[in-house]
Amino acid sequence: MGKIILTGDRPTGRLHVGHYVGSLRRRVELQNSGEYEKIFIMIADAQALTDNFENPEKVRQNIIEVALDYLSCGLDPAVSTLFIQSQIPELTELTFYYMNLVTVSRLQRNPTVKAEIQMRNFEASIPVGFFTYPISQASDITAFKATTVPVGEDQLPMIEQTREIVRKFNSIYGEALVEPDVLLPENEACMRLPGIDGKAKMSKSLGNCIYLADDPEDVRKKIMSMYTDPLHLMVSDPGHLEGNTVFTYLDAFCRPEHFERYLPEYGNLDELKAHYQRGGLGDVKVKKFLNKIMQEVLEPIRARRKEYEKDIPAVYEILKAGSEKAREEAARTLEDVKAAMRINYFDDQEMIRAQADRYERN
Ligand code: ATP
Ligand code: MG
Repeated sequence: MGKIILTGDRPTGRLHVGHYVGSLRRRVELQNSGEYEKIFIMIADAQALTDNFENPEKVRQNIIEVALDYLSCGLDPAVSTLFIQSQIPELTELTFYYMNLVTVSRLQRNPTVKAEIQMRNFEASIPVGFFTYPISQASDITAFKATTVPVGEDQLPMIEQTREIVRKFNSIYGEALVEPDVLLPENEACMRLPGIDGKAKMSKSLGNCIYLADDPEDVRKKIMSMYTDPLHLMVSDPGHLEGNTVFTYLDAFCRPEHFERYLPEYGNLDELKAHYQRGGLGDVKVKKFLNKIMQEVLEPIRARRKEYEKDIPAVYEILKAGSEKAREEAARTLEDVKAAMRINYFDDQEMIRAQADRYERN
């Protein structure tokens, strides 16, 4: 059986460079590798509503933003199926059946959900929909029989939860579902890119982002204001790398050719880091270097975005066609699931005949 990818993003804002290094860049590489039989990329609007249910307009307006970001990063709708979660009702149905396989205490142990509950001040009263979103995510992944889920580190507990559901389902009802593997970014910095404030993961909900669609001047300003090392007061002071956002970003974005192009006095990132730690290298110089790299990465993305922005209805057509295709796929899995769960009554002529015989005999 060929390899299948399912991944996605919540339409809670434009996509940022954390998404790019954590997932998007990899997706495009995987798409272009030709190694995958099918690729499904989902805009998770139903999931976004679990903590934005009072703000449906936000979710509605951000569908197009996420779609434009996808296309501008190089996701190709001819190869990857781009679709909208809520348009696939089969996913909700799967969630309902998977709920039987998960306990409340298991959900309470999910570290990502725990952190998100705290961040959203949901401690006092957690909406049931939000609490159970890991189960809905298991439906998204299994509906497409995904073998591979390329995501950032925060998604690890979701994939583990999915694997548990698959194992439990298959052991009770028979082998109908595929157990997925997670595909994490190779580089530590990319797994959980911090925000420009250096405090937490870059996240749409925290407002500490560099967006893929930011204009060059905004990107420059954000980089120049980035959190570095509070102890590095004078250029001559030794600098620290730990928790230094600018260096974390360099770990995520910098390649050897960037030194040749923009900072030829250093051979590589290790040399730059060593100089910073010794003292004598100012933050501004490092930030200017990072700015050149980021502008180089973001420029083609911005240019492609401008092209797609000229024909918004066409982008909706792409999503509509993708959603139709995704729905067919999910419907097939739901049929398998219902057959395995013995709730496919009308398809089971044999059962109907056997019961008829029994009653005739009586
Ligand atoms: P929200 O605040 O609404 O949860 P988000 O910024 O966390 O938004 P998601 O849509 O939840 O974004 O995440 C989409 C994908 O991007 C996931 O695979 C996630 O792991 C990855 N991702 C998100 N933020 C980062 C980050 N800062 N670094 C690396 N990967 C990230
Ligand atoms: Mg998130």
